[in-house]
Amino acid sequence: MNTAPFDAPIYVTRPVLPDLTVYERHLADIWRSCTLTNGGPKHAALEQRVAAYLRAPHASLFVNGTISLIVALQALRVTGECITSPFTFPATTHALTWMGVRPIFCDIDPVTLTIDPDKIEGLITLKTTAILGVHVFGVPCHVHAIQEIADRYGLRVIYDGAHAFGTEIEDRGIGTFGDATSFSFHATKLFHTAEGGALAVCDAKVKARVDLLKNFGIQDENTVVMPGINGKMSELSAALGLCVLDLVEDERRRRAEVACVYRARLGALGGVTLPPVLPGVRPSQQYFAIRTPKRDRLQTYLRSRNVFTRRYFYPLTSEAACYRQVPTSGRENLPVAHQVASEVLCLPFYGDLGVENAARICDMIGELP
Ligand SMILES: *Cc1c(COP(=O)(O)O)cnc(C)c1O
Repeated sequence: MNTAPFDAPIYVTRPVLPDLTVYERHLADIWRSCTLTNGGPKHAALEQRVAAYLRAPHASLFVNGTISLIVALQALRVTGECITSPFTFPATTHALTWMGVRPIFCDIDPVTLTIDPDKIEGLITLKTTAILGVHVFGVPCHVHAIQEIADRYGLRVIYDGAHAFGTEIEDRGIGTFGDATSFSFHATKLFHTAEGGALAVCDAKVKARVDLLKNFGIQDENTVVMPGINGKMSELSAALGLCVLDLVEDERRRRAEVACVYRARLGALGGVTLPPVLPGVRPSQQYFAIRTPKRDRLQTYLRSRNVFTRRYFYPLTSEAACYRQVPTSGRENLPVAHQVASEVLCLPFYGDLGVENAARICDMIGELP
């Protein structure tokens, strides 16, 4: 057993990077074409490949995930109130606020950590127009139950799939559920373009509206058809994406090996709740989140061993100063989310970590009194 501190710090993730020479070949193309943005050839190629990888009928690339989420809400005309999960990154809730939509916080399922469909109906009012779920850590929401409620009440369904690049349910891409799914291609995400994002939609009319909205609403030289924004991904980011996408399958395979070690070793230790294994689901391998009542002590202890974990998602977005006054932010409305937020810890999780280092981290966890 080796529980001596690591010589170099171990972080929760590390971006996948191609050989520099591979990226340089793309840069040479860009320099030759003198096209840096506005939907150039790299953008076109990546958009097609991302849609294919996600097995989504349509994808639109974005400058980041947050703008893609805001544009999804605008494209689908979400107004009034939207039922959403507080167990997420602040961007999910902020996107609603930027659209002038009031977030209505709903508690989460204690196993999947995604919005609890049994708690949604009680929160619907005459102002409700949509449900915004989050595929937390790449674990899918209860998509069928959510769609059933949405259909009954005529609501839109939008998913924040920032963690779910490549998640599949029964061989269906995660982006084919609901009206739109946003993805983040931030450097911390499994697939990244340094900064970037995408929106997957099934309806070609929605895709057309999304593409107008991300380019200022400009239809042609003479016509501006709607109040759009600048959400375009540059050619430099798209080129990086083309290189990183080639490496994603291998990265997922290596992360699955790390997950295997974590599951076996931590399962044997006991006292730790492991991420769920759901039948028919292919996980994205974005994060490996455990739960333990000793969370804060464990985090401090691991830090002393040069292992830097993250408490995603603590605090809940409903606890932020800007959302605490929302009536549904009350602790009594969100008991499961509060409990989970106090226990969750994301362990280092990336291919280069390797199975031996993962085993060593498990030994450290086992050592904590
Ligand atoms: C990373 C992340 C975002 C934000 O994506 P950006 O590309 O950084 O704008 C949104 N939601 C969740 C759940 C995330 O993890």
